[in-house]
Amino acid sequence: TLPLSIPVTLPNGTTYDQPTGLFINNEFVYPKQRKTFEVISPATEEEIAHVYEAREEDVDSAVQAAKKAFEGGWSDADPLVKTRALTKIADLIEEHAETLAHIESLDNGKSLQNARGDVALSANVFRSSAGWADKIGGKVIETGNTHFSYTRREPLGVCGQIIPWNFPLLMFTWKVAPALVTNNTVVLKTSETTPLSALYVCKLIQENNVLPPGVINVINGFGKITGNAITEHPTIKKVAFTGSTATGKAIMAKCAATLKKVTLELGGKSPNIIFDDANLETALQSAVAGIYYNSGEVCCAGSRLYVQEGIYDEFVAKFADYAQNKVKVGNPFEEDTLQGAQNSLNQLDKILHYIKLGQDEGATLLAGGERLPQKGFFIKPTIFGDVKEDMKIVKEEIFGPVITVSKFKTVDEVVRLANDSEYGLAAGIQSEDVNKCVDVARRLKAGTIWVNTYNDFHHMVPFGGFGASGMGREMGEDVLNNYLQTKAVRTAI
Ligand code: NAD
Repeated sequence: TLPLSIPVTLPNGTTYDQPTGLFINNEFVYPKQRKTFEVISPATEEEIAHVYEAREEDVDSAVQAAKKAFEGGWSDADPLVKTRALTKIADLIEEHAETLAHIESLDNGKSLQNARGDVALSANVFRSSAGWADKIGGKVIETGNTHFSYTRREPLGVCGQIIPWNFPLLMFTWKVAPALVTNNTVVLKTSETTPLSALYVCKLIQENNVLPPGVINVINGFGKITGNAITEHPTIKKVAFTGSTATGKAIMAKCAATLKKVTLELGGKSPNIIFDDANLETALQSAVAGIYYNSGEVCCAGSRLYVQEGIYDEFVAKFADYAQNKVKVGNPFEEDTLQGAQNSLNQLDKILHYIKLGQDEGATLLAGGERLPQKGFFIKPTIFGDVKEDMKIVKEEIFGPVITVSKFKTVDEVVRLANDSEYGLAAGIQSEDVNKCVDVARRLKAGTIWVNTYNDFHHMVPFGGFGASGMGREMGEDVLNNYLQTKAVRTAI
């Protein structure tokens, strides 16, 4: 039996205590079967830790803890108790920001500069969520003198949350903060490749006595067993999922059997449109942030670039030069590294497969296209030109630092091309013409439109998809709808 906490030394030389158990009832515990799985660093391919895996019986323990916490008081916790708790979590994340950013880079492979951004946004989301605590309420509905009618907004109960590996801390935050502020309790499953940062935040919550036992329970494990047990558990009232579209469909189908509410944040193949009248430097930075931020492992990555014919040659040459010479790929812990390692060997192989497919389909490689000749899962920033719109590399989500570039002539043409996708998570518009931006923003079918920027998140701005990119919204006021149900009360007088 391995201990429930192990010392881990970070690349900056500091050592911290990493929990490895399941966080249930404010304690780190062993699962019944005491099985572990290995977590490796994608940048070195070396082992970081073994963490404990939850099976059906452990999912049930976590659900019972969450149910008890819900019924035992959290379902109608005083608003200011929630404000204080979520504010405290935000403070703790900020106090431990450097450690958390290092854990995130170590576990996910992303660059430290990207990880620091994730940590800052996580703290903001907790702090902003805390502010909703005393502002959630129903309405009085004026239905005449014979009745008094009003609504209440009530929590759902125990929520199951299943998160991916590309933003382990941020996805934990996006799920947990709104669920708690709306008086729900949670059982969250981390991704099997990136469990460390969420467990570390649970340790901070435990040590500082932030929440009553059972309000938040975090378990580790794989989709087929642990994730599946969440989708099947009859006590869980809602499942919130972020990950691939295929898994999202499977989860929704599973949840139908017990009629759980479901919100999904899924994949994308988002267009980023560069018009002739764009500021070329701004457009270049948007294109770079769109695809190389977080090593391209971003659901809303701007992975289809559309460049207008008047600037096509000049822009594409600049972009290829930047990708080849200015995007620093490699050791995530070097301050100027933009693009770290891909998260896993599986993911690396998937991306390399798409690069080969692109070449086989007849697209022209303008930059990158290969793995770095060193240990770790690194891929050179890759650009494909001469693509045809029906190629698989234009249609399918690659989830890596690979972008396709297409030329267009008119606004109508590019709106049609941009919208020709089953997905609809995000889109970018790069132009100095404000009328055109507003018009095109209205016509694009996507949940987020970035104008003269890209992958630019804010804790007050809702995020989520149209079409096959999902349902429900994260952040902002909209996310509260994911975790509340309306009760109407009509009283005869
Ligand atoms: P995934 O969708 O399979 O996994 C995401 C989460 O769901 C993980 O926690 C996983 O354990 C869990 N899961 C998997 N199968 C499940 C099931 N049947 N029931 C319940 N939970 C289940 O994603 P992945 O395998 O990690 O990556 C595959 C692809 O998904 C990637 O290549 C990428 O294209 C895409 N992806 C998208 C996002 C996004 O934010 N949109 C995030 C991660 C991955």
